[in-house]
Amino acid sequence: MRASLLHHARTSHVSRAFLSRTLTVSAAAAAGPVSVPSVKMAASKSQSGSRVLLGMSGDELQQVALDLGQQSYRGKQLHHILYKRKVKEIHDFVQLPLEFRRELQEAGWSVGRSPIHKAVTAADGTVKLLIKLEDNLLVETVGIPVEDDKGSFRLTACVSSQVGCPLRCSFCATGKGGFSRNLKRHEIIEQVLAIEEVFKHRVTNVVFMGMGEPMMNMKEVLEAHRCLNKDVQIGQRMITISTVGVPNTIKRLASHKLQSTLALSLHAPNQKLREKIVPSAKAYPLDAIMKDCRDYFLETSRRVSFEYTLLAGVNDAVEHAIELAELLHKWGRGHHVNIIPFNPIEGSEYKRPYKKSVLAFAAALESRKITVSTRQTRGLDASAACGQLRNEFQKRPLHAGTDHQQSQSEVAIAS
Ligand code: SAH
Repeated sequence: MRASLLHHARTSHVSRAFLSRTLTVSAAAAAGPVSVPSVKMAASKSQSGSRVLLGMSGDELQQVALDLGQQSYRGKQLHHILYKRKVKEIHDFVQLPLEFRRELQEAGWSVGRSPIHKAVTAADGTVKLLIKLEDNLLVETVGIPVEDDKGSFRLTACVSSQVGCPLRCSFCATGKGGFSRNLKRHEIIEQVLAIEEVFKHRVTNVVFMGMGEPMMNMKEVLEAHRCLNKDVQIGQRMITISTVGVPNTIKRLASHKLQSTLALSLHAPNQKLREKIVPSAKAYPLDAIMKDCRDYFLETSRRVSFEYTLLAGVNDAVEHAIELAELLHKWGRGHHVNIIPFNPIEGSEYKRPYKKSVLAFAAALESRKITVSTRQTRGLDASAACGQLRNEFQKRPLHAGTDHQQSQSEVAIAS
């Protein structure tokens, strides 16, 4: 297996914020013997309106049990079943009495897991999944297995935060496919669990580099982050949140003092060029981004990683690398650049850079004391660039069941 990393993408349109309803659960209503103070509990709802268990904390699950007249240890069992055994349907919660399972269903609870619509495996072991959400929308998630030289194994889940993306970065396939909606927290968490199911292995790292702009769905992303860390038990340092930069969101993220990495998709060393590559850059000048990244570092002590997609003849000259090094030094220390050679997408005017220019770009940064990693493109044969697989299946509407252009033979297992 080749050692390296991932990447990915998004799409566009209207932004529909999802308000997760707050539901008050009173302990008085619970007939259980343990008295728990009344808590405000934000239960995520599925598209059909059922209340979703996935994403709930241990305390919240305990409250669900109490509320249905069960003892509090049933809440602990629910936690174990959801996050350790990873059971997908309430009727399969065989550790629980039939009666309690029935009550959960009658009270309108569901687990919140969706079926895998399509799985594509590349020769290098990367697996790309299309998950079919309750409202038939398809969302992409990628599992990237990496074995390092010492033989230790990492499994990275590259997760989506939105179906599509409202920002239209010029080189990104997701942006070309349209935006549909924000994902709910359980729809983010279930991507990680789906990868674990396919690989029969724990996910060790999570990167929010799939479809969508995480900072435009911050509430659900933060809730998913909490659950992945506390319940699924993935270390905060193993989680990376990637953003192209949305005004006023980096400060908000910093205030949560997460121990996770912020990745900022920069792609250009100056405002003029950045605006050409990333249309949304007009609303958030480079200096303001750099200031917010510096403050993120000061607030969290976590080094910001700058992503730079190298586009041949556009931003890949050594002069660009020199300008980038100057920009980073101007804004302080603790910066890192992650070079991503462009992964060609259908109908794009951009070209993949030559290996020679990638090496020269990296060397120019390193000689100016900027730490660099170059991302190997994984799973090129599995429609690896962001949003590519989803686009093949959803050429027009974003509904899996209605896309007549969908051809099963289009995407087969590539090996
Ligand atoms: N919206 C977020 C996260 C999704 S994109 C963001 O912009 O950071 C995650 C990363 O995938 C971005 O750094 C982007 O540069 C990269 N990416 C998207 N499409 C790509 C492509 N075709 N080739 C190379 N990198 C790509």
